[in-house]
Amino acid sequence: MSRALIIGGGVAGPAIALFLQRAGWQVEIFEAGEQPDEYVGLFLNVATNGLAVLEHLGLRERLVREGHRSPHMVMWSSTGKQLGTVPNGPARDPERGGVVVRRGILHRVLREAVQEAGIPITFGARLESIHETDAAVHATFADGRTATGDLLIGADGVGSPTRRHIDPNAPAPEYSGLVGLGGFAHVPGLSPTPETQHMVFGRRSFFGYLVRDGGEVYWFANITHPATDRAALRKVTAGEWLAELRELHADDPYPVPQILEHASGDVGGYPIDDLARVPHWSRGRVVAVGDAVHAISPSAGQGASLALEDAVALARCLRDEPDHTDAFAEYQRVRQSRAEAVVGYARAINRQKRVTKSRLGIAIRDALLPMFLKKARDDTRNDWLYNHEITWSEPAVGGRG
Ligand SMILES: Cc1cc2nc3c(=O)[nH]c(=O)nc-3n(C[C@H](O)[C@H](O)[C@H](O)COP(=O)(O)OP(=O)(O)OC[C@H]3O[C@@H](n4cnc5c(N)ncnc54)[C@H](O)[C@@H]3O)c2cc1C
Repeated sequence: MSRALIIGGGVAGPAIALFLQRAGWQVEIFEAGEQPDEYVGLFLNVATNGLAVLEHLGLRERLVREGHRSPHMVMWSSTGKQLGTVPNGPARDPERGGVVVRRGILHRVLREAVQEAGIPITFGARLESIHETDAAVHATFADGRTATGDLLIGADGVGSPTRRHIDPNAPAPEYSGLVGLGGFAHVPGLSPTPETQHMVFGRRSFFGYLVRDGGEVYWFANITHPATDRAALRKVTAGEWLAELRELHADDPYPVPQILEHASGDVGGYPIDDLARVPHWSRGRVVAVGDAVHAISPSAGQGASLALEDAVALARCLRDEPDHTDAFAEYQRVRQSRAEAVVGYARAINRQKRVTKSRLGIAIRDALLPMFLKKARDDTRNDWLYNHEITWSEPAVGGRG
């Protein structure tokens, strides 16, 4: 039986472990984090295409039960004018729209499935180096531990050491010009927003929120920021970010200032990066998946879904191609152009989110957006994002990737 070492227990790592085990592989996951944490990070959108992968794993319902179904996104101007509604999923098919869920819950659903399948996960295992011989690949972790397999799969996120092993000249992530912040709040009197997220093109910053049935608010803001000094960004406290956000959104419509008034706890404060074109996704016995090879800024709501798609696509190639070199080549061939197109789509959204200080610029945006958004409601042009389903039972070659 072939053995794969999977580096990273985020989204792509557990998913590929589950698919590969089905294909008869022995798998083990190594995660740098010391322990699972249900409250890690903020929340994210799992899009229709990501839900389709979870369906193949029998996990879709588990996730949907714990998330907020969000097939509609309502856009607002800084003056409180409704600009339009955009589908978060295939146009004209709200039943298949995306689900917003705490990141830790997505991790937990995947982790529990991995544990139920008897797949070992080692926490506190930070990959430090990779060494290959003709017959095997060896991983060395920061605590001195080692592991050996036939293949190593790097699902180790945007800062991937696996990517650097594959190609020391691989491009570094690029900064989008936006800093992401977000969190949770309870606002007295604020009604739930069933099936809907709201997005506000604020005067000085972009803001999004939804309200769950129990009244919990999930909110985020993307502030335009030079972010030249990342170390300095990390030192800004949650209280300082909140003070800045309250000022930036002070003149925006209800309930934006009220949500920020009631927000507390961790608010993130990370520069939003992406990674558009990584030329080499594999070398020898090592391959990378998910953010490690195509990080997408959160604006498209697609990063986790593409990571899930990669998992099923790569596992199918390894199942059907006897030689791993051919499997890796086929995997990159079927995945790269789609991933790059989604990164480009997210970049286009980011351009609209970056705040112009010019009153004229805001006026033009607010005048033009309703026209675009009116078209977007029934527009099937973005269906390519959502209707992409990679079926596990189909063959890898000639199937969809
Ligand atoms: C705040 C925020 C909001 C987002 N919103 C959305 C959204 O709405 N929709 C969406 O689809 N995507 C969103 N994304 C992006 C999404 O989270 C990622 O695209 C997705 O998690 C990628 O999955 P992955 O498995 O490739 O990487 P990750 O989920 O990042 O997992 C990588 C794992 O590897 C581990 N790791 C890293 N280095 C090592 C090492 N050396 N050794 C061992 N383990 C290591 C990490 O600890 C981590 O657990 C958002 C991201 C952020 C930060």
